[in-house]
Amino acid sequence: MKRNKTWLCLLLLPLLALVGIRGAPRGALPAQAAVSAVPAAQSAPAGYIALTFDDSPNGAVTERLLDGLAARGAHVTFFLIGEQIEGQEALVRRMAAEGHQVGNHTWTHRRLDTSGAVGARELRRTEEALERVLGGSGYWVRPPWGFASAETLREADAPLLYWSLDTEDWRLPGTETVVRRILDAATDGDVVLLHDSYEDSVDAALAVIDELSARGFAFVTAEELFARAGVAPERGCLYCRPDRLRTVA
Ligand SMILES: [Zn+2]
Repeated sequence: MKRNKTWLCLLLLPLLALVGIRGAPRGALPAQAAVSAVPAAQSAPAGYIALTFDDSPNGAVTERLLDGLAARGAHVTFFLIGEQIEGQEALVRRMAAEGHQVGNHTWTHRRLDTSGAVGARELRRTEEALERVLGGSGYWVRPPWGFASAETLREADAPLLYWSLDTEDWRLPGTETVVRRILDAATDGDVVLLHDSYEDSVDAALAVIDELSARGFAFVTAEELFARAGVAPERGCLYCRPDRLRTVA
């Protein structure tokens, strides 16, 4: 059964191409997802973007990001390194309480394509830590560096999220550089990769939210991005964005 997962993921794509991100029927949205920062009197958002922050949580830097997001009514997704959760449980609870999505980035930032059972154990251990702190289950996975194998996907108990817009904030830092990379490329439905371990990335994210909100974009969690697109995320599928999968060897 699990063996057939990859082609099942791929089967979805032609359908998605026909529907299109913007063409999703609004009636299909869960009631909660229909609540948006944009007042009903205004026109519909120009598009939806999911900012995602890897290697989280990071103490005061993450806190500053949460403050900025709260002030703007924006929601994002955090992918947590399991071993960083201890001592930062309150911060993790705050993420969830303020409407952000929390996901799994392995226990020690282990690449999943070459680590076999060790990587699988790291995912499980982080999932269990998230269940202890937040409750729930089936936390989405962001593979460290984006590396995943067919085996990773077969064994995953949740959807996996790659990205469609890489800011390369770890390699080319600087607030202006990161802002420019996003503004030059962002389109409706994009999943943007950032890290809340860098002050510059936090400043850049908040500046981008200000700029693109003024152009009518709304910033939502990955889960809401998929719901808005009318796509039900499948466990074991590695998505770049709701209408695009990343295939792995
Ligand atoms: Zn990472």
